[in-house]
Amino acid sequence: MTHGISRRALLASTAAAGCSAALCVPALGQGAGGRVVVIGGGFAGATCARFLKRMDPRLIVTLVEASPVFVACPLSNSVIAGLRDIAAQQFTLDKLADDGVALTRAPASGINTQTRAVTLTNNSRISYDRLVLAPGIDIRWDALPGYNEAAADRMPHAWKAGEQTLLLRRQLESMEDGGTVVISAPANPFRCPPGPYERASLIAYYLKTKKPKSKLIVLDAKDAFSKQRLFQKAWKELYPGILEWVPLSAGGKVTSVDPAGMTVVTDFATHKASVANVIPPQKAGRIAEAAGIADRTGWCPVDPVTFESKQQPGIHVIGDAAIMGAMPKSAFSANAQAKVCAAAVVRLLAGKKPDQPKLINTCYSLVAPDYGISIAGVYHAADGQLRDVEGAGGISPIDAPSSTRAQDASLANGWFKTITEEVFG
Ligand SMILES: Cc1cc2nc3c(=O)[nH]c(=O)nc-3n(C[C@H](O)[C@H](O)[C@H](O)COP(=O)(O)OP(=O)(O)OC[C@H]3O[C@@H](n4cnc5c(N)ncnc54)[C@H](O)[C@@H]3O)c2cc1C
Repeated sequence: MTHGISRRALLASTAAAGCSAALCVPALGQGAGGRVVVIGGGFAGATCARFLKRMDPRLIVTLVEASPVFVACPLSNSVIAGLRDIAAQQFTLDKLADDGVALTRAPASGINTQTRAVTLTNNSRISYDRLVLAPGIDIRWDALPGYNEAAADRMPHAWKAGEQTLLLRRQLESMEDGGTVVISAPANPFRCPPGPYERASLIAYYLKTKKPKSKLIVLDAKDAFSKQRLFQKAWKELYPGILEWVPLSAGGKVTSVDPAGMTVVTDFATHKASVANVIPPQKAGRIAEAAGIADRTGWCPVDPVTFESKQQPGIHVIGDAAIMGAMPKSAFSANAQAKVCAAAVVRLLAGKKPDQPKLINTCYSLVAPDYGISIAGVYHAADGQLRDVEGAGGISPIDAPSSTRAQDASLANGWFKTITEEVFG
């Protein structure tokens, strides 16, 4: 019997119970707005589900998320450095039910583009008029010889936050003073372009303050990276003799790893590591392959106005899984894309033409707890992809007083609080 139970309570109990198929599948034809299923309740998917419902309350919006708790990557490098508790990274989707989003807690395992239905691992099916995929990334387990899922237990990637983040933290804590930490950074494109360098900075901060005889080597598959001049200037000031960056042209590209021997191999040398953080090549979350929307690069090409897949009509892709031209893979971008996508889906379902979007991204990085730097970009649709709006955006000045760096560090924390409140709060 469900009478006497509010819709809100029903949705909440559905979510808590793990959701039976009958409860999860929206009734066909209910509501005038149509049925939208969103797969992935991270920065992109949770934002999109919420804004779809706000923009058109008649829509039946179902959000499918595999994990009961979302662990945010932004600021997770501070957890690795012992500066922040993992609890501050954890969020649930419960509040989305208050907005009328139906939550389904199970991994989506298949998509039938002919019948327009999503299959879940519990064998239930959800029909859609439009589908939004926001599954984030998966690791390319076949890309780096020696690096597989078992290897990640010894050489954590910590590029999906959660247990991997804590594992890397524990390894650093138990390392003797005088040990060598090795970070392997991948070639573009990958999740969070400045992320490996923020991580290197904060691990160097930990070593400097807690284990000063230790060293950190960053082996890089690239010669250039995001906010490079700012990072390198700060490293010279803050971490001389501790942090060494080895670019591609100096033999930085890691060609294989041996987790048993704890070695990281490049064309030029074999590095013995006390702690190895291997950030491997990545691709769109694997449901993208099931949907037939990932191309040979492993990522999903999309139309820059609607974020509709260039491979499969009726399916939109947002966040890290998509190829977004000049727009980097960040939580800020994912959130911005989600809102534009929600607006486009509402207009398309109403038979209207979507508006031309302009999107903003800002990426903050911490070089030390009170030393932040940032880069911002503005993007518009041109020639079938998102391109920089010339003259817009900006980057922290290369010479700035410590008060400016402290202000950017504080803005980084403020940004995280604001975005997570908007998405999950
Ligand atoms: C160390 C690090 C630091 C970072 N710092 C920043 C920063 O400072 N600022 C910033 O803007 N960005 C930062 N990022 C990048 C940011 O975390 C990502 O860009 C962002 O999470 C992308 O959002 P998304 O929604 O595409 O993917 P995610 O946030 O990963 O969400 C994907 C969700 O989909 C779910 N999912 C996947 N497949 C399925 C399925 N088949 N069925 C159901 N659910 C599924 C997953 O469980 C997950 O909850 C950082 C990343 C890292 C690794």
